[in-house]
Amino acid sequence: MILLGLAKHHPKFANSNFQIDWSNQVAICPRGHQSKTWTKKTDKKGQPIINIRFSQHDCGTCPSRSRCTRAKTEPRGLTIHPKQEYIALHSRRKVQHTPEFLKTYNQRAGIEGTISQGVRRSALRQSRYVGLAKTHLQHVFMAVGLNLCRLDAWLNNVPFAATRYSRFCTLKPKTS
Ligand code: SF4
Repeated sequence: MILLGLAKHHPKFANSNFQIDWSNQVAICPRGHQSKTWTKKTDKKGQPIINIRFSQHDCGTCPSRSRCTRAKTEPRGLTIHPKQEYIALHSRRKVQHTPEFLKTYNQRAGIEGTISQGVRRSALRQSRYVGLAKTHLQHVFMAVGLNLCRLDAWLNNVPFAATRYSRFCTLKPKTS
């Protein structure tokens, strides 16, 4: 049996590994089984959601069960957004894996670096003044100051700071 498009770095079955048949109101799991129930509900914020459940018969003996659910005996459940939101969300997620998107997104690293420098050096998070005009002036002075700092670092061959990792990340064994 063909397992439906599993996420590359996600050994568990994510919602995206399930096919949704909107017209018949059923979901098809990575093992090819159809869901048993399809219930429209609202979440805690009052937003419409759809609760889907698979059958005990299929999930109880499924060889992929450990990849699909953490429940000891219950069958797999799935909560999804209504059709329009679901399609919009999943198409956006697909776009996020394209090289074009990643290329654009990489620019964020530079912008984040600039914001971080502004926060650490110039207390960018807080305005010293009341009113947009004065705050804007403060930001302009900050930008000029940061540019001078960067120019000084560049002229003196100061290397870029190394990427900081969380303590948890540093515990991860290095792969060569
Ligand atoms: S545990 Fe159930 S929903 Fe998950 S793959 Fe198996 S049969 Fe399908």
